Amino acid sequence: MAAELEAEVPAFDRGLLECSAEEIAAKWLQASELQKEVYQHLAYYVPKIYCRGPNPAPQREDMLAQHVLLGPMEWYLCGEDPAFGFPKLEQANKPSHLCGRVFKVGEPTYSCRDCAVDPTCVLCMECFLGSIHREHRYRMTTSGGGGFCDCGDTEAWKEGPYCQKHELNTSETAEEEDPLVHLPEDMVARAYNIFAITFKYAVDILTWEKENELPGLEMIEKNDTYYCMLFNDEVHTYEQVIYTLQKAVNCTQKEAIGFATTVDRDGRRSVRYGDFQYCDQAKSVIVRNTSRQTKPLKVQVMHSSIVAHQSFGLKLLTWLGSVIGYSDGLRRILCQVGLQEGPDGENSSLVDKLMLYDSKLWKGARNVYHQLFMSSLLMDLKYKKLFAIRFARNYERLQSDFMKDDHDREFSIADLSIQIFTVPSLARMLITEENLMTTIIKTFMDHLRHRDIQGRFQFERYTALQAFKFRRVQSLILDLKYVLISKPTEWSEDLRHKFLEGFDAFLELLKCMQGMDPITRQVGQHIEMEPEWEAAFTLQMKLTLVISMMQDWCALDEKVLIEAYKKCLTVLMQCHSGFTDGEQPIVLSMCGHSVETIRYCVSQEKVSIHLPVSRLLAGLHVLLSKTEVAYKFPELLPLSELSPPMLIEHPLRCLVLCAQVHAGMWRRNGFSLVNQIYYYHNVKCRREMFDKDIVMLQTGVSMMDPNHFLMIMLSRFELYQIFSTPDYGKRFSTENTNKDVVQQNNTLIEEMLYLIIMIVGERFSPGIGQVNATDEIKREIIHQLSIRPMAHSELVKALPEDENRETGMESVIEEVACFKKPGLTGRGLYELKPECTKNFNLYFYHFSRAEQSKAEEAQRKLKRQNREDTALPPPALPPFCPLFASLINILQSDVMLCIMGTILQWAVEHNGYAWSESMLQRVLHLIGMALQEEKQHLENLSEENVVTFTFTQKISRPGEAPNNSPSILAMLETLQNAPHLEVHKDMIRWILKTFNTIKKLRESSSTSPVAETEGNVMEESSRDKDKAERKRKAEIARLRREKIMAQMSEMQRHFINENKELFQQTLEELDTSASGVHDNSPVISDAKLTALGPEQTRVAEHRQVVMCILCQEEQEVKVDSRAMVLAAFIQRSTVLSKNRNRIIPDPEKYDPLFMHPDLSCGTHTGSCGHIMHAHCWQRYFDAVQAKEQRRQQRLRVHTSYDVENGEFLCPLCECLSNTVIPLLPPPRVLFNRSVCFINVFTKCTSSSSEKMDQLQLPEGFRPDYKPKNPYSESIKEMLTTFGTATYKVGLKVHPNEEDPRVPIMCWGSCAYTIQTIERILADEDKPLFGHLPCRQDDCLKSLTRFAAAHWTVSSLSAVQGHFCTLLASLVPNEKNENLPCILDIDMFHLLVSLVLSFPAIHCQDFSGVSLGTGDLHLFHLVTMAHIIQILLTSSTEENGMDQEDTSSEEEVAVLTLYKFLCQCTGSALKEVSSGWHLWRNLKAGIMPFLRCSALFFHYLNGVPAPSELQVNGANQFERLCSYLSLPNNLTCLFQENSEILNTLVESWCSSNEVKRYLEGKRHAISYARESNKLIDLPDDYSCLINQASNFSCPKSGGDKSRAPTLCLVCGTMLCSQSYCCQTELEGEDVGACTAHTYTCGSGVGIFLRVRECQVLFLAGKTKGCFYPPPYLDDYGETDQGLRRGNPLHLCKERFKKIQKLWQQHSITEEIGHAQEANQTLVGIDWQHL
Ligand SMILES: [Zn+2]
Ligand SMILES: [Zn+2]
Ligand SMILES: [Zn+2]
Ligand SMILES: [Zn+2]
Ligand SMILES: [Zn+2]
Ligand SMILES: [Zn+2]
Ligand SMILES: [Zn+2]
Repeated sequence: MAAELEAEVPAFDRGLLECSAEEIAAKWLQASELQKEVYQHLAYYVPKIYCRGPNPAPQREDMLAQHVLLGPMEWYLCGEDPAFGFPKLEQANKPSHLCGRVFKVGEPTYSCRDCAVDPTCVLCMECFLGSIHREHRYRMTTSGGGGFCDCGDTEAWKEGPYCQKHELNTSETAEEEDPLVHLPEDMVARAYNIFAITFKYAVDILTWEKENELPGLEMIEKNDTYYCMLFNDEVHTYEQVIYTLQKAVNCTQKEAIGFATTVDRDGRRSVRYGDFQYCDQAKSVIVRNTSRQTKPLKVQVMHSSIVAHQSFGLKLLTWLGSVIGYSDGLRRILCQVGLQEGPDGENSSLVDKLMLYDSKLWKGARNVYHQLFMSSLLMDLKYKKLFAIRFARNYERLQSDFMKDDHDREFSIADLSIQIFTVPSLARMLITEENLMTTIIKTFMDHLRHRDIQGRFQFERYTALQAFKFRRVQSLILDLKYVLISKPTEWSEDLRHKFLEGFDAFLELLKCMQGMDPITRQVGQHIEMEPEWEAAFTLQMKLTLVISMMQDWCALDEKVLIEAYKKCLTVLMQCHSGFTDGEQPIVLSMCGHSVETIRYCVSQEKVSIHLPVSRLLAGLHVLLSKTEVAYKFPELLPLSELSPPMLIEHPLRCLVLCAQVHAGMWRRNGFSLVNQIYYYHNVKCRREMFDKDIVMLQTGVSMMDPNHFLMIMLSRFELYQIFSTPDYGKRFSTENTNKDVVQQNNTLIEEMLYLIIMIVGERFSPGIGQVNATDEIKREIIHQLSIRPMAHSELVKALPEDENRETGMESVIEEVACFKKPGLTGRGLYELKPECTKNFNLYFYHFSRAEQSKAEEAQRKLKRQNREDTALPPPALPPFCPLFASLINILQSDVMLCIMGTILQWAVEHNGYAWSESMLQRVLHLIGMALQEEKQHLENLSEENVVTFTFTQKISRPGEAPNNSPSILAMLETLQNAPHLEVHKDMIRWILKTFNTIKKLRESSSTSPVAETEGNVMEESSRDKDKAERKRKAEIARLRREKIMAQMSEMQRHFINENKELFQQTLEELDTSASGVHDNSPVISDAKLTALGPEQTRVAEHRQVVMCILCQEEQEVKVDSRAMVLAAFIQRSTVLSKNRNRIIPDPEKYDPLFMHPDLSCGTHTGSCGHIMHAHCWQRYFDAVQAKEQRRQQRLRVHTSYDVENGEFLCPLCECLSNTVIPLLPPPRVLFNRSVCFINVFTKCTSSSSEKMDQLQLPEGFRPDYKPKNPYSESIKEMLTTFGTATYKVGLKVHPNEEDPRVPIMCWGSCAYTIQTIERILADEDKPLFGHLPCRQDDCLKSLTRFAAAHWTVSSLSAVQGHFCTLLASLVPNEKNENLPCILDIDMFHLLVSLVLSFPAIHCQDFSGVSLGTGDLHLFHLVTMAHIIQILLTSSTEENGMDQEDTSSEEEVAVLTLYKFLCQCTGSALKEVSSGWHLWRNLKAGIMPFLRCSALFFHYLNGVPAPSELQVNGANQFERLCSYLSLPNNLTCLFQENSEILNTLVESWCSSNEVKRYLEGKRHAISYARESNKLIDLPDDYSCLINQASNFSCPKSGGDKSRAPTLCLVCGTMLCSQSYCCQTELEGEDVGACTAHTYTCGSGVGIFLRVRECQVLFLAGKTKGCFYPPPYLDDYGETDQGLRRGNPLHLCKERFKKIQKLWQQHSITEEIGHAQEANQTLVGIDWQHL
């Protein structure tokens, strides 16, 4: 197809390319009717360029359009070659001081919390870095696309509006200057012409609706071709579209994915090209297929000419956008053209037309013209205003269109409101001139038409469509917020007028909410259906900020405030006209007071939680209280119209409802009510709900007789009977009443007392109490931190945010709390300062029940720790503002005293049910509050004030006849010694003490005499004192004990958390020591220890007894007993890889015998170190397997482990495992017989020219001898099991125990695992021995012994063959020709394989040389090869570093060797004169090999490590050599047998590969290999965001990737979690990350999801987990999901921890643990990430 097109196209192109832009432009300049000329040109050429076939060819189209269509326009515009014209324009143009950069999706944006006028003001990264806000408190977010940089907009920033770059452009700006003066006149005229024609053309064609006609253009195309155009909608899923397309247009899945992706991105895509019928047929299939459940996908058959012109129309708009970039003058002309009214009057300008057609356009077209608007209209200050007016006038229509449109708001023109309304001057102008507030609110109301008979909103029985509309209409509230966000600094009459008009509309809105969703208590049966409640609360929640902002506006102008107050009051009275609603009045009387009220029971009649009008009035009342007028002339305020009982009625009902719900009276009303009550108190709503209800009650009490208030309150709580009838309580308890009712009443009494506490105590809002705003926030923080220390984000969540998303917390937090930095895990915490605890109020109104009891517990504990009494008395409070001052009298009112007295009486008599401790606690708190109040009054006494607050007097008076009840004080004294009130004793004591203090104060001020109290209240009898002393001592002892215990458990917990791994070890140690195994210190003198060879130190092997974790039975590890095994996990690994591009081509044919030194893929074995019987494990494994199979059949769920692949969890620690390693006694002892090995060796080497099979068998070699396998059947079976597992995982092949590669894989895994551990030790700078965790130590020991024993279960001849081939790589012979040269062999792998395969030869050799001698020879040989390898590849640069003058013996020797090498290589090697450098390089290069070898022989032969190697110290190299039986001067090795060795060295150097390397034709690994690290991450996280935002999907041509994800191993950025980058892997579709792990990490991957700021671990296709990122904000917290937006910086320690997990091969294990802990992780479709 492609070839066909290419052949066809050039013919067209040639004709088109002959067009001359210059000539056409010249013709146009002469034309009398320019529009006609241009249109003719377009009509002819556009269809020849665009839409020439089924698939778009954007590059060709762009090229031709530029040449044939745009070129002439540019020539015409410039009047000369645009190549000269445009640069000239650009030069003449003054650079703009506005940045205006339009944000890409995912680009980082910055807002300054100190200086931005509102949070929508943002900067691009470049501007931000050049601004002063860098040093401020800033917030970072990622853009959702759209929107632009506000740098240079002086209205957006309180300070620093320009960055350095844009500052430069402001110098000579005269704002009002007309930019047209910079353009030549004739150009202005031409620009008008061409802009008008092209803009109109584009608008006409895009808004064209006819099918076979074009606007003012001829249809030139003769043969009709059509497109079947598929449009985007937000209803159908990707999968549905893909599936449908495959059916409808018969395409492959890949093509369908391509179509669907484009449709999703651009909003439309043609899916078929051809004649009308052909296209129509596809259309009907698509419609039919998608219309079943939902409305069908939108498909349209379109004439190709129309599609062509539309494509060019879009191109033109983009072109216009770029042309006006050259000059502000051109921009202004375009704006003028766009806003010019057409002949049809209102709404006929091009801009209007586009806006009003917006919802009918497809996504791609909308994007293009929105961008054009942003770069033209919004960048020109004059036209921005005109455009804003057009936008406001069309507002209603645009919003209605948006309601019907199914695209998200970001693709709607309605979304531009944020750009316009947030500009303060524009917002103000639109309010006063266009009455915008009213328009928005009215539009909003128009879209919520569903009302009940009282005209209130009704959301019950909402249809799906209405619900959808309701979601959309919420965006209007956002617009209202934008308009209000910047408050006026001065008020004009006009603004007042229009604001109040808007306020009226707003009240109308609130009126529709007042009393909505009323509820009635359900009795008898439970409700059948949970009523709808969320919609009403959503509305309330969204409006909360707007309501607050309305109040803020009112607060700014006294006139406005008073007007608003009156309006609000009027509306409230309308809502509750004559609040009686026909209910009968009743009279309540108590203690000689009586009041008239209505008969109303919350538990029987309708009640609503929604009272926004009342609450707004409460808010305004507080504001009034703040005004000067309220202090001086309160009589001038419109307070006389208020009827306090009417004001309090509804808020009181609402609070009673909460109390009753709490008392369990509304249980049958279901969860919807519980949820409503929850949100009523929740931080998101409470500011304009619960808080304001309390304010309203405070307002009411302050304006009425408190006795009246209390009686009404008792009546609403349905408690009036109890307190107004004497002895009611007594009767209650004696009568055999329903316990539930008593319980209920008790709770109600508690709740009522709590409410009184709140009414009196909550005075921390400015206007209620004499406080400022910071006092309020401080108090909130103090109470949050009283519960426990909290992280910054937790505190933020607990505090209400204002419209700028600020809590105000940062400004005060330092005063009340100390910050504690986080460790390696966890987060930074704020702790309350000790001096702030005195402000703690147990009955703080924002505590939830749970928080209250936690806080109480915490505070009491603190007091005990400080050895104070545990009373939690009420704190001293700030005084009320004058308007609320009289409120305080409620505490000393008769009814209050009566309530207190009654409850105390119950407590004194404490007989039966009608009483509870928390009731008493609350009464004590109230008494405490009253005493605090009186004390403060006395302390702040000034001459003219008379103290009217005389609580102490009143409580000292005994009750009057006929009761003659004792005084409250007397009762308190009685209770002080009541044994059943031990808990409250401290509080009562505090009250009595305070009472005495007040008494003394009164005496000293002698204002009014206090009635003498009888008795020595504070006197304690000596017996009491004694008791108290004993108690104190006991308490101290208890505290000490407690502290120690707490410390211990804290330490333990901490320890376990921090050192999970260590903890497991300790467990093991406990395990093993319990079974008495490790007597790990064979008494060997510190004489020379040698790990191998004939000189090897002999160690007596200890009996090893271990315990099975499954059956708890002990057993000794012996050759002939049942096998014991270790749980183990084998995985492929690229952690050491030096070449991540190497892949194993065909695992079935791959020969792993030689490991390449790039270590590109190894096999790692790890173990948790837990031991089982082989048969116990087998039984366990079978059971797991059977269970999983049943479970998967039944539930089709995944588990964290893959049973089919042999995976299981360690039964003890749940560590992921996939096989077991047998435990073995040291194997070498078994095989060793004194055999004369050296003969074989020398024979082999000297007869290198002979062929192997013709090799004359040395004396004593008996090939017919079959050695007897010493192991028990059970051990043999386990040897095979583990060997096969290693083979299967390492090569990724099907298990086959016969395969000759099995032993190779075993040796390889042993070598590779030792190498990884050596690297970890080296990186951490730990000594080689004595510092490995037990589990690794055990694992290495078992692994090495296993690998050494494995040959006994393999084919002897195969192993012998391997040995010969391995040896031949160093001792060449002719049979093995194609062996790798020594540059391409990893010497440690070679050593391990040689040593471990050698016994297979040795067992048939009876000549008497020991195995140890053989080992030593092999070791020396490989070491020498490695030395040559290092010398050949070391890139010694002889720098001028200090060197000693005298050359040591080693240096001389190595120089000699090097010279010999030069000779061998024909002088291709660089000349080196310094032996010092050579020796240094050699030592450094060979160290890792020696360290690995030491580990290997240590585990193989069991020789303990010399103590010098267990510490870091000098001479490590010499110690190693000695342990390994090597001469310190390694080159000495070459001097024994020098003749043979010279031949060997020569043969190594003569390889072609070595020659090629020395000639620079190939690369080779040099030594020492550096450890691999994860990539370097930048300190500032926004660098990563920026990097990711510049990254585009590699597969879909420059598109932004949705989930850019960074591989932390190699630094590749990937397009994750997206269809575009899915690939097929082993027959399954996988996402980019999973695909990447297969090449980069052989299945394991560590990624950073940049947008989410989240680390992702992947292993295989089904395993994965998220892990906290190594980035922290200043508060020591991570921000997964980037929700908070605080600046993030790299935490190096945490990153190191991740790196360590990787180096230790613990990623898979980590995933396993995470998945076991959190089952939802198992369900995630990891393979598609
Ligand atoms: Zn910028
Ligand atoms: Zn800037
Ligand atoms: Zn700032
Ligand atoms: Zn067992
Ligand atoms: Zn375990
Ligand atoms: Zn990678
Ligand atoms: Zn992609």
